[in-house]
Amino acid sequence: MTLFPIFSDLKNRPVLVVGGGEVAARKVQALLQAEALVTVGAPTLAPALRDAVAAGRIVHCPGRFNPAWLEQAWLVIAATDDRSANAEVYEAASARRLFCNVVDDPALSSFQVPAIVDRSPLVIAISSSGVAPVLARRLRERLESLLDQSLGALAGLAARYRGQIRERHRELGARRRFYDWLLDGPVATALRRARPQEAEAALRQALSQAEAPTPGRVVLVGAGPGDPGLLTLKALRALNEADVILHDRLVSAEVLALARRDAECIAVGKRPGEDHDATQARIHALMREQARAGRRVVRLKGGDAFIFGRGGEELEYLRAHGVDYEVVPGITAALACAAYAGIPLTHRDHAQTLQLVTAHCRGEEDGLDWAGLARSRQTVAFYMGVGQLEALAARLIAHGRAPDTPFALVENGSRPGQRVIGGPLSQLAALARQHGVAAPALLIVGEVAGLASQLAWFGTATQHTAPQAEARAA
Ligand code: SAH
Repeated sequence: MTLFPIFSDLKNRPVLVVGGGEVAARKVQALLQAEALVTVGAPTLAPALRDAVAAGRIVHCPGRFNPAWLEQAWLVIAATDDRSANAEVYEAASARRLFCNVVDDPALSSFQVPAIVDRSPLVIAISSSGVAPVLARRLRERLESLLDQSLGALAGLAARYRGQIRERHRELGARRRFYDWLLDGPVATALRRARPQEAEAALRQALSQAEAPTPGRVVLVGAGPGDPGLLTLKALRALNEADVILHDRLVSAEVLALARRDAECIAVGKRPGEDHDATQARIHALMREQARAGRRVVRLKGGDAFIFGRGGEELEYLRAHGVDYEVVPGITAALACAAYAGIPLTHRDHAQTLQLVTAHCRGEEDGLDWAGLARSRQTVAFYMGVGQLEALAARLIAHGRAPDTPFALVENGSRPGQRVIGGPLSQLAALARQHGVAAPALLIVGEVAGLASQLAWFGTATQHTAPQAEARAA
């Protein structure tokens, strides 16, 4: 280890910054956050620094560097764009045994300012000892994305109750378990939900019990359509913290690969011979058992859990059984497939509304407003429709949708094998058969679907066999 890390208390302590430009201004801002008494020495000041002087937040020593400026300082930062001027500051500071940092110049620095992830009072500082700043920055970005903003509030709360926690759980093992619960359980959950009073109440309640509580809960996470880049930061965090992941068949292997290494992954999709309700009941029981056992459960669903994902039923069950839960939305298939096929779902010239529909064309009475779905200048996204394309197109046309309305059938949307088949509605079933389209596929019907041939950017080009599309391409 070439650099010894310290966190310094600069509150009400004079610090000298030499240089009056943008770089100096950034350093000054960070120092002010630490409540240091900042003096800036420079012939001229950048606007932000001039404002700070005018507001009485910093003091300005005008002119070229003068060693007398070092008189009161505990720490010195040189941020001029002139290396010899910086060197002069460094020499003068070193002669007085003052720590000096020259920005981006490790050779002229007796201390360095690390990259930080700030969840005050929790602060993570990262240093590559000046040799690999890009690596340090990468690591910082990783940590930024992994750590929820509410972590600071959690650390603050833990600090306030530290004495009482120690009182309540004198034995180290019990205390550890309590802290695990604090970091993983309902207190952290409440803070993420922006409910600080509830968090504190849960903490007090737990402190009134003799046993350390267990952190079991369920996070209902939308995994998106397949491309792991479409996960939200919250989804990634949940995957990183999970003890057990109950996932559907639709969730891609690439997404599961991002989970914590020792998390147990259980595929809970429909089993052969099992009906949907039996599957759902099995999933409900499993979520409850796992959470009761104190495990952090992630219920991972394709797309978004609240869009044709039975997420509502799962929450109703958890609520009825007193299991704590959170929801992380995901990018639903319609949004992802449209984006990855170059289809703007609404467009000022073509579509003012969008409907998300699950297609079950069994019998006449399927409860859908076909006349409404068949209206022009709107976009309809059909989920789970691959098995009934013939009936679907026939109904839309019978209810007045023009037979030449463009459709796009997006198979494996956002995944490496994505295919987009396009054409006029009247040829939907024939083209799907011709190309052997299989699930998962999403059907988009509407004027906007015709834009895919021009706006596509991902995967193989749209396969248009329709006369209309050929004419446009020519
Ligand atoms: N909750 C999911 C939808 C579940 S229903 C969501 O919000 O996306 C399952 C249907 O979603 C599939 O039959 C298909 O129509 C669609 N779907 C899901 N992922 C898809 C993908 N990657 N490409 C195309 N369609 C997809």
